[in-house]
Amino acid sequence: MPKPTIEDVQECVGKYQYYFGLKSWRIEVSFAVDDQENIGDCVASPEYFKARVAFNLDKLPNLKEMEMVVRHEMLHVVLSPYTEVVLSLSENKKTLELVEEMVVSSMERWPLWRVME
Ligand SMILES: [Zn+2]
Repeated sequence: MPKPTIEDVQECVGKYQYYFGLKSWRIEVSFAVDDQENIGDCVASPEYFKARVAFNLDKLPNLKEMEMVVRHEMLHVVLSPYTEVVLSLSENKKTLELVEEMVVSSMERWPLWRVME
């Protein structure tokens, strides 16, 4: 399987932006992750319908893996309005961030997505 290119990632983000109902969002795709250990990253401002998803191309070995990582980061965008509210009301941010990560990681693996690959 070939290694994904920048164009592959951008196309995949566009696909999930459409299928996840995020067409009114401005989603910036970046290839500079803050922490080099991360494969992907997401920073969302749901109040402005804006998000930045970042990917570490070096850590995406093939298109299948890329698809999972893109889906994962786009699920963070989908959940961001709810996450933002819950985090603002809580003093236990670390736990809530962990719960969101578990929810997104679980959703990322749903067999449902096979219809989109
Ligand atoms: Zn995550």
